[in-house]
Amino acid sequence: MVQGVGFRPFVYNLARGLGLTGWVTNTAAGVELAVQGPPEAVEEFFSRLVSQAPPLADIHAVHQREIAPEPGESEFLIQASQAGRRSTLISPDVAVCEACLAEMNDPDDRRHGYAFINCTHCGPRYTIIEDLPYDRPQTTMRAFTLCPACQAEYQDPTDRRFHAQPNACPVCGPRLWLADAAGRELDEPEPIAAAAQALADGRVLAVKGLGGFHLAVDAKNPAAVERLRSRKHREEKPLAVMVAGLASARALAELDDDSAQALSSRERPIVLAPLRPGSGLAPGVAPGNRLLGLMLPYTPLHHLLLAEAKRRGMDALVMTSGNISDEPICLDNEEAVCRLGGAAPRGAIADLMLLHDRDIYLRSDDSVVRVVDGALRQMRRSRGFVPSPLILRPELAPEGCPAILAVGGHQKNTLCLLRGREAFVSQHVGDLDDLRTLEFFELTAGHLSRILEAKPKVVVCDLHPDYLSSQWAARQGLPLVKVQHHHAHAVAVMAEHGLSGQVLGLSLDGTGFGDDGTVWGGELLLAGLAGYSRLGRLRPFFLPGGEAAVKEPWRVGLALLIEALGLEEAVKLDLELIRAHGDKLELVGKMMERGLNTPRTSSMGRLFDGVAALCGLRFSVAYEGQAAVELEQAMERPAEEGYDFGLREDGGLLELDWVSLVEEIATDALAGADPARVSARFHAGLLSSLSTWVLAGAESSGLDRVCLGGGCFMNAALLAGLPPLLEAAGLEVYSAAQAPSNDGGLSLGQAVAAAAAWGRDRLTGDVTTLTHGEGPA
Ligand SMILES: [Zn+2]
Ligand SMILES: [Zn+2]
Repeated sequence: MVQGVGFRPFVYNLARGLGLTGWVTNTAAGVELAVQGPPEAVEEFFSRLVSQAPPLADIHAVHQREIAPEPGESEFLIQASQAGRRSTLISPDVAVCEACLAEMNDPDDRRHGYAFINCTHCGPRYTIIEDLPYDRPQTTMRAFTLCPACQAEYQDPTDRRFHAQPNACPVCGPRLWLADAAGRELDEPEPIAAAAQALADGRVLAVKGLGGFHLAVDAKNPAAVERLRSRKHREEKPLAVMVAGLASARALAELDDDSAQALSSRERPIVLAPLRPGSGLAPGVAPGNRLLGLMLPYTPLHHLLLAEAKRRGMDALVMTSGNISDEPICLDNEEAVCRLGGAAPRGAIADLMLLHDRDIYLRSDDSVVRVVDGALRQMRRSRGFVPSPLILRPELAPEGCPAILAVGGHQKNTLCLLRGREAFVSQHVGDLDDLRTLEFFELTAGHLSRILEAKPKVVVCDLHPDYLSSQWAARQGLPLVKVQHHHAHAVAVMAEHGLSGQVLGLSLDGTGFGDDGTVWGGELLLAGLAGYSRLGRLRPFFLPGGEAAVKEPWRVGLALLIEALGLEEAVKLDLELIRAHGDKLELVGKMMERGLNTPRTSSMGRLFDGVAALCGLRFSVAYEGQAAVELEQAMERPAEEGYDFGLREDGGLLELDWVSLVEEIATDALAGADPARVSARFHAGLLSSLSTWVLAGAESSGLDRVCLGGGCFMNAALLAGLPPLLEAAGLEVYSAAQAPSNDGGLSLGQAVAAAAAWGRDRLTGDVTTLTHGEGPA
């Protein structure tokens, strides 16, 4: 990635500084250049070319050869990009750089206090680019004509803003204003100061940002936080908090070195870290959560707003995405008025709106990361990281393979466009149940293909016939490949670590469509890139009410009790679950007996829900995975002795059996064990049983590499606890870090699986299904 990031001016200045002559130009593959001069200078040039490259440049390879001298060459030139040859890698959006910040804070600078300051090393990219080539007319900056001063910077190869497409200043660039909830501009000469004052008064502010809108309130004002929550209909999910710098961040959360580094990295993700007791944050910021989502300012506007907030005694602002739960983040000013302002269907969410006239072309939510087991883990890979590709090992990207578009799953959707060895995973699209999200999904698919100049020839989807993504894929009129959900999770991890051949895939998550038509989610697979077979599963149990059981874990709790102990015994138990929901035991029993809207599932995520219900922690949830998250966080310290899972054979599958677990939890809970204790014993038992289970699979298959995939590995106790147990027994363990372990990483696995199948001539006819029976390879 060497175009649009100031690489040619860097080469120009470097060559001239060393007294070299020659030229540099952009090509389809990157940058081509020639230098001529004394050998020591040429050598020095090549060593600094990589070591001192501009911050946004990402150099994958340097190929170098000697050419005949050019007699009479007297200077170094930047040659225009040749027609038809253009940028093939677009930079992500990047946090404002130190040099720009220094100018912004300098009262004598012409951009003093300017909220849209940027340069070649920082600022918006992916979210403002509509098409290639990456030139101003193809971005949402085309509405602004450069003033003479900005134009001069733009044309000067020695200037930091040489060819900086979003270059702007107060004279010629975007402007900021404050509006009321109806979107009417207020007569406020200092909109940022006025916005900060509104925050100090406890009001809710919508802030137009880089990839969408944020909703902001004073994070230490409980009434303001409650107001935001109730208006946003997001009662339970934790809210992200923005602070001015690392010192303020450390006052709120415990940060290890890796987390601190991630916080201040130029990608500026939200970093999850343990909340510090006595932080002073309103309890409503992250109710029932030990973790806090923190981020530092990444746009000039954020820096200015935080500075004004500080002047008014506020050092932490809630900055949560500007959407009603489950809708995509807001995009333009009109939409913001319709959805966040006075025109919103359920009343205004924001009291005031800080707006500007630089359009956002493509939404991009904040990324979310967490350090677990010594590695930075992507939980939501989006703004700041996208569209940087993951580069695959050559053996994972067969020569001549056409561009492949993988459409991901249903929840936490992302897409992935595979072009040669580059896998471009899209920004977080969201849950595809909303029409607006589906439109965003389609826009993203088209955009990826345009900016990467790669027209997909093969499309890949999940095996689930009802996913909107699968249905969309089937309508594209291209050869279609279907990849089983848990196989895709395993392949995503293989792709990240460059593994080919066969591995054990331990895929644990909420739900995915199995190749037998049942709901899977606790799977031990013998996985290859292009196929798999199922070695084992979590012993299936009933999901009374199907989808309803996801929102109401009490249903799972009752079903587990009935199956483990029988209805007669279950009804007699003096458990909180029975006291609260025992009246439905008989009904649930009947549903199970008759199979009435009560599928069987081997889902590990749902087992977590069931355990949360059994120990009285959670009977219903506001969002999927909430009970599992709270069960993990209920644990105060690890238990020495865990609950027993059994192992048994069933239909040729090695089953992890939960029956004895349920008996033990019931006994413990009856004896007065609190959720903290049940959680600790559950986790301890799960870790040792998973280890035994995987080792049995390793024994029977002769494999010694295991890939951990699926949303359950968002659980830090599991992700950090399992590898040492498996490694002690001689296995090599791999897990997801660069792509999310949850369904956000599915598209990567799908794309790589399809490429492998293509490479082995496995794609036959219009539809190819890479399922059980294809055999691993
Ligand atoms: Zn800059
Ligand atoms: Zn200007």
